[in-house]
Amino acid sequence: MSYGKYIMIPGPTPVVRSIQNQMGREITAFGDPEFIKDYKELIESLKEMWRCEGETFVIAGTGTMAMEMSVANTLKKGDNVLIVSHGYFGDRFIEICDKKEYAADVLQSEWGKIMPVQEIDKKLSEKEYQAIIVSHVDTSTGVRAPIEEIGKVLKKHPNTIYIVDGVCATAAEREYMDTGIDILFTGSQKAFGVCPGLMILWASKKAMERRASLKKINEYYIDFDKWVPIMQDPSKYFATPAINLVWSLLESVRLIQKEGLENRYARHEKVARSIQKALEAVGFSILADPEHRSVALSNILYPENVNDADFRNNLYNENIIVAGGLGAYAGKMFRLGHMGHINLNDVSAVLSGIERVLFNMGAVKETGVILNVFNETYKNL
Ligand SMILES: *Cc1c(COP(=O)(O)O)cnc(C)c1O
Repeated sequence: MSYGKYIMIPGPTPVVRSIQNQMGREITAFGDPEFIKDYKELIESLKEMWRCEGETFVIAGTGTMAMEMSVANTLKKGDNVLIVSHGYFGDRFIEICDKKEYAADVLQSEWGKIMPVQEIDKKLSEKEYQAIIVSHVDTSTGVRAPIEEIGKVLKKHPNTIYIVDGVCATAAEREYMDTGIDILFTGSQKAFGVCPGLMILWASKKAMERRASLKKINEYYIDFDKWVPIMQDPSKYFATPAINLVWSLLESVRLIQKEGLENRYARHEKVARSIQKALEAVGFSILADPEHRSVALSNILYPENVNDADFRNNLYNENIIVAGGLGAYAGKMFRLGHMGHINLNDVSAVLSGIERVLFNMGAVKETGVILNVFNETYKNL
């Protein structure tokens, strides 16, 4: 990757050259037949790859817009919704649902742990929920929710729409719509490795039926009904598509197709587990329980002798950017994104940069340990 800086945060993630090149292309008309063909290929590929039988939307906006779009098209004022929150972004849904005046119940896990499926099962049997929302990976904690198991529980509740926030997971963690998911969404800047500015949302047939049953909704730009005609035939106009971002995302999708989705999931698993082990070997610990750790990012707790601001400033001076902790973990943790199109050489550079900084700060006595553990773990996985 020819990249001056390693942007190792949970989005935006590094954008590889072939995707960057799409951003630099000369603009064309949204009605240009060549562009329409590309937009159509993008929508159809995403739909097929994530096994979506309903509709797939690719629209200018961020993950937060997709969060709003997911509920605005499936719930009306007063509807019961269950929010399973594993941290900061789960909590954001509490605010969204409050604004829209849905009757939200919240199951909140302790940070670093999952909400057990049995608890969710129990809660769902107490009353009829029109929807349930789960974030697959909450960026604030690095915890991966068991979304397939939750999908199985939801078979008992055919009137409940299953919404999965995949913003920090999709294209890194295994997800397919045919595991019972009704709405899945993400943003272009996370595991797709594209610049920020697009959201992708998959909606099942059941979700589309729910939208139809709501008739008129108080939304304009994010109304499914406004976009379905465009997604089915991108030669139509509703609002100007983000042309260069569409090209960029198409390039990312082609890279993913070349790699294979399952291979991509396996690669993320192998790289993430090796990174996590390597970081533990130099004194860090990982917030998330070992069996519920994400492969998209790691949320890493400092040992006593490492100061957050010093560590991240020193890393920044080495051209490596990581994110700080959120909420109660601000100052106690850093967050390292390792999703998308990063390769082993990028990972090696970043890990050795981390160790060099620790060494220069006097927090470790020798160098070489981090790459040894990484390479050893990687080889044996
Ligand atoms: C980043 C993120 C969001 C918000 O996405 P934006 O593109 O910043 O609006 C939502 N949910 C999760 C889990 C995220 O990681």
